[in-house]
Amino acid sequence: MRLKGKVSIITGGASGIGKATAEKFIKEGAIVAVCDINLDAVNAVVEELKAAGGEAVGYKVDVTDRAQIADMVGALKTQFGRIDVLVNNAGIVMDAQLIKMTEDQFDKVIDINLKGVYNCTKAVVDTMIEQGAGVILNASSVVGVYGNFGQTNYAASKFGVIGFVKTWAKELGKKGIRANAVCPGFVATPILKSMPEKVIQAMEDKVPMKRMAQPEEIANVYAWLASDEASYINGAAIEVTGGLTL
Ligand code: NAD
Repeated sequence: MRLKGKVSIITGGASGIGKATAEKFIKEGAIVAVCDINLDAVNAVVEELKAAGGEAVGYKVDVTDRAQIADMVGALKTQFGRIDVLVNNAGIVMDAQLIKMTEDQFDKVIDINLKGVYNCTKAVVDTMIEQGAGVILNASSVVGVYGNFGQTNYAASKFGVIGFVKTWAKELGKKGIRANAVCPGFVATPILKSMPEKVIQAMEDKVPMKRMAQPEEIANVYAWLASDEASYINGAAIEVTGGLTL
């Protein structure tokens, strides 16, 4: 119960890594707010978390919509009085090589993956400062450290969220707030599961461990970073890749 009673917002919490993180946080005793654009999936995850004996609430929130975020944060503060952890997990991919990338592809990915993280963090930071405590965790990627073919927009967004945590660690460390990023390699989520078997096989072959991560293996890292066991980890970007980049 390393997160007992910690009020935790997980954006993009209705699928993949976010859903696994919500499940792990509940197992560790957190109060979880699942927020996602997909309301049916939010409701299903919240029901599942409650059935597992956890305390969970759900919100249909688009991380590009500051009014929706403010409403959720206000409701959570009214209900629980505090916000302890923000997991900025919501993200999308819209891949194309630079020569073919459209302005719409660039703008959408930056809006959700980068500005969405800024929007959500802005909405909780005053509360965390008042509390003198808080944890902010950003979903980066191995692509946010090394770049990737066909991912100009995604790489910029994932480098950017590492820039955020390094800046926030410096600005907010003295106020009791830690900010860190997680950089997964290949993770078996709905995004990757839709790829052809031979592409998945080729990806797995590149990993020394010869397999993708399961979402739970990333969720475990978020839970550890959110807990007091990681009390001196601040401004880090932790690669969770099975050795992919060696
Ligand atoms: P996923 O598609 O399974 O889940 C993403 C969730 O975000 C979905 O439920 C989606 O509805 C939600 N979402 C999308 N746009 C949103 C918005 N505007 N507002 C609120 N919610 C929104 O993806 P995943 O693989 O679990 O990825 C989660 C995070 O991890 C992403 O930021 C992704 O970039 C990152 N990541 C994933 C991998 C991987 O291999 N799967 C690797 C590295 C990093």
